[in-house]
Amino acid sequence: MTEIKNPTKGSPWGYAPAPESSDHFKLKDQYGLLIGGKFVAAVSGKRFATINPATEKVLAHVADAGEKDVDKAVRAARTAYEKVWRKMSGRERGKYLYRIARIIQERSRELAVVESMDGGKPIRESRDVDVPLAAAHFFYHAGWADKLPYAFPGKAVRPIGVAGQIIPWNFPLLMVAWKVAPALACGNTVVLKPAETTPLTALLFAEICQEAELPDGVFNCLTGAGATGAALVKHSGLDKIAFTGSTEVGKAIQKSLAARPTKLTLELGGKAANIIFEDAAIDQAVEGIVNGIFFNQGHVCCAGSRLLVQESVEKEVVAKLKARMAHLIVGDPLDKNTDIGAINSKAQCDRIQDYLKVGQEEGAELFQTNCPIPDKGYFIRPSFFTKVAQSHRIVQEEIFGPVLAIQSFRTLNEALEKANNTPYGLSGGVWTDKGAKIFKVTRGIKAGVIWANTFNKFDPASPFGGYKESGYGREGGRHGLRPYVELS
Ligand code: NDP
Repeated sequence: MTEIKNPTKGSPWGYAPAPESSDHFKLKDQYGLLIGGKFVAAVSGKRFATINPATEKVLAHVADAGEKDVDKAVRAARTAYEKVWRKMSGRERGKYLYRIARIIQERSRELAVVESMDGGKPIRESRDVDVPLAAAHFFYHAGWADKLPYAFPGKAVRPIGVAGQIIPWNFPLLMVAWKVAPALACGNTVVLKPAETTPLTALLFAEICQEAELPDGVFNCLTGAGATGAALVKHSGLDKIAFTGSTEVGKAIQKSLAARPTKLTLELGGKAANIIFEDAAIDQAVEGIVNGIFFNQGHVCCAGSRLLVQESVEKEVVAKLKARMAHLIVGDPLDKNTDIGAINSKAQCDRIQDYLKVGQEEGAELFQTNCPIPDKGYFIRPSFFTKVAQSHRIVQEEIFGPVLAIQSFRTLNEALEKANNTPYGLSGGVWTDKGAKIFKVTRGIKAGVIWANTFNKFDPASPFGGYKESGYGREGGRHGLRPYVELS
């Protein structure tokens, strides 16, 4: 393992702390489940703690939903669907979505701070990416609510019914928006299960639905762990399930739905190749590598976790990457200087540490910066591996942390071959000065999203989703409406 010094440590160029305050709101000690428009305790009375991964301190206790709560929530969603939501005009539904979008904007500061406290991501990202994009998703889908016939010309468009939606911990509020906004815009009602480690912004969203006077039961929120998600999947009262998370759980859900008419969309893992050609603007590409793998601590399904760099510029790119990484600040998620926040949970931190060991045991060479990290909480320094082989686990498996695997290539075809040599097919990136190369690469990579001379850019109008073990179905754009409607 080689290390280089962090030039900001102890130097006159270091930044003074700039922590975002959390004085402007107060979290409750306890949160219930939102069922039929009301917050209620779990039938079992069970609760669990959600902690701040940067401090390991308890933030709040939330209800742990079991099978009986799932049943109550699905029934409430069915009643709201039959009696209110599906009968309502698209124009009226759209008004509720606009209202939700505006309240997200009004409460954006609180949402951003809670997102960073509960999940560990830097405040700059929750403030500038997660929360504005969540609002944008509601604005975008509010616009579609009364225009669905234009999305599917010549077809009669009907909602599907009750959707069960299960989301992960890496973009807690944004995933609420990706799932809930299209479902409601198309006239469906929802039972949502947020991740065990990041329930708080989903619960604040539940409050926002109350504030927007969304009719009771249109949106229901069940907090809990994997068992709550499994109970939701098992419930026969759902017409659709939308899942984002690991490929392993996605496969289990697919199996359990095999003999049922319930529709399914899966957004699963990824191991994207970020391809740098020798004719690329190298400094810009290095920023793209950093954004591709260190954004959100690398907890990103579409992260550029494999760097493929043309051999002629490999040394230059690796040297510039090391120099750039030495300036990355790892630490307090609420500090506006922080580039890389806390790893979401101890379990995920242990999993990443294991991969760091596995990579070295397989013969790859690990590089990590030696920036200071807090004594408490779960943190990992930005890292990359060189001397990796295509067969290494660190090249094939999703690490979901700030760990990059670097390989080189000589020809475009070799780059494509390596890029596609993965069970996943979610995203990719290409950096070159030549438009023709961009088209060859984007046509040659089997992935749902490919960025050219940029990375990790999202827009509600742009469909997102994968091929192969990255799942199926699209979220966002006109394509993202399709899984929530019946056409005839
Ligand atoms: P999971 O797939 O377990 O979690 C995703 C969601 O599914 C969570 O809400 C989880 O609940 C729920 N869930 C867990 N088990 C079941 C089940 N049997 N039936 C229904 N729902 C279930 O991901 P992990 O949190 O365990 O992360 C493990 C790995 O998965 C990561 O290291 C990463 O590689 C990958 N991952 C990929 C994501 C992506 O966006 N592609 C997102 C998250 C993880 P709960 O969290 O409460 O247990």
